[in-house]
Amino acid sequence: MIDEILGRLGVATSAYRDGDYVITSPTDGGELGRVSTESAAAVTARIDRAERAFAAWRQVPAPRRGELVRLFGEQLRWHKEDLGALVTLECGKILQEGLGEVQEMIDICDLAVGQSRQLYGLTIASERPGHHMRESWHPLGPIGLITAFNFPVAPWAWNAALALVCGNSLLWKPSEKTPLCALACQALLERAMADFGDDAPQDLSQVIIGEREAGEALTDDPRVPLISATGSTRMGREVAPRVAARFGRSILELGGNNAMILAPSADLDMAVRGILFSAVGTAGQRCTTLRRLIVHESVRDEVVERIKKAYANVTIGDPMQGNLVGPLIDAQAFDQMQSVLEKARQQGAKVFGGERQLAETYPNGYYVSPAIVEVAEQDELVRHETFAPILYVLGYRDFDQALALNNDVPQGLSSCIFTTDVREAEAFVSDQGSDCGIANVNIGPSGAEIGGAFGGEKETGGGRESGSDVWKSYMRRQTNTVNYSRELPLAQGIKFD
Ligand code: NAD
Repeated sequence: MIDEILGRLGVATSAYRDGDYVITSPTDGGELGRVSTESAAAVTARIDRAERAFAAWRQVPAPRRGELVRLFGEQLRWHKEDLGALVTLECGKILQEGLGEVQEMIDICDLAVGQSRQLYGLTIASERPGHHMRESWHPLGPIGLITAFNFPVAPWAWNAALALVCGNSLLWKPSEKTPLCALACQALLERAMADFGDDAPQDLSQVIIGEREAGEALTDDPRVPLISATGSTRMGREVAPRVAARFGRSILELGGNNAMILAPSADLDMAVRGILFSAVGTAGQRCTTLRRLIVHESVRDEVVERIKKAYANVTIGDPMQGNLVGPLIDAQAFDQMQSVLEKARQQGAKVFGGERQLAETYPNGYYVSPAIVEVAEQDELVRHETFAPILYVLGYRDFDQALALNNDVPQGLSSCIFTTDVREAEAFVSDQGSDCGIANVNIGPSGAEIGGAFGGEKETGGGRESGSDVWKSYMRRQTNTVNYSRELPLAQGIKFD
């Protein structure tokens, strides 16, 4: 099946059969392909080419650059089923979610096309007679993109679509666990470039397949003015200082530890549905996965019972076959989950679920039932992001206590409250409320849509992508003062003669 899909997506067989780095399917551990990884020297050569592509692309008018992104969006529409299936095969999320990721790519292309005619600057009043001041936005340079396994295509597109209309070239280092998705996106973009015509320069977009060494060659090169990196906080801690050391910019989209406050006034039917999707979707491997349920003591027992019932009905299995929960990415992810659950048990927590499933059918696929862990307090285990379907349950008695728990973790990505009390809802989204980049009311913490700025505070890294005014991150700001008079007055009334 993989050969037909990759063939239709335009990926040459040699690109995924002839290499030495084996890509395995999370579904059953079988081999999906073999790719060649690149050395640091090969990355440096790619950056040379990306610089040349940038020099040509920045001269193409922005609305025309938008036309390339429009054509790419068309390719994605035509190939949504195949690319969505490839996402499922390579990273293990269920097909509905794979298709959703491709839809996000289409949506960001639409947004970027409109944006290509709106790269607005400002005019500013000058204090000097006969002077104009303005602010202009210019293309930045080759942009380095590093992405995680769990969203193998959409976060690249969030960055790529806007970076392209802003006049930049692209260097993408995808996760070593999901390079086939990257090869497919690149092939579709190349088709769009062929339809676009000669003013799309060669090497406008390149994919770097590699591990840490390749990533470091990209982050250390001063010719790459912006590194946009999605992944764990551990990765961000390594990447951010390296980029800062050469005064580069970074957009960091790192780990989350997302909570829901469930108030006594909440519509519990809706809340339980919200919990289910956000806690078990993508087998708990979303950066916005619901990891902490902060529930009012008066409804706690009832809610936990209802979640357990809902969990019992969740179908776990092959992500291509209409199940709700697919596999974890690999054995290491499974081992980490089990070790965290074991620690929780030792600390006296009540653990429900979390066992391995379907081991006989898939000895090399790691399926688990989602776990619920009732804890007495928010200790170090709860404050840490474990990338697996573990939902910690904490009780609360008054709203301020719930809000303090929501904020008392090192990460600051997403958060939500279920309540019908307007005071609580407004307090939660106020300046004294949730400290996260995303704060929702009566919606779970995951499943963001294109248009809003996506990202989070604290150890989540502070980056924003995919909407609002984030296009500015892919451009450089220039302040211009133009003197059209015959005098040369100085600002602040300074006399210099
Ligand atoms: P990871 O940190 O292991 O890897 C992410 C990427 O970083 C990979 O491409 C990897 O090769 C690269 N990398 C790792 N170390 C590097 C280094 N020193 N220099 C350069 N590149 C390096 O993450 P993962 O396991 O693929 O993904 C899961 C994590 O990503 C979770 O923590 C999740 O919350 C986070 N995530 C965050 C967002 C977000 O938008 N905030 C989105 C998706 C995933």
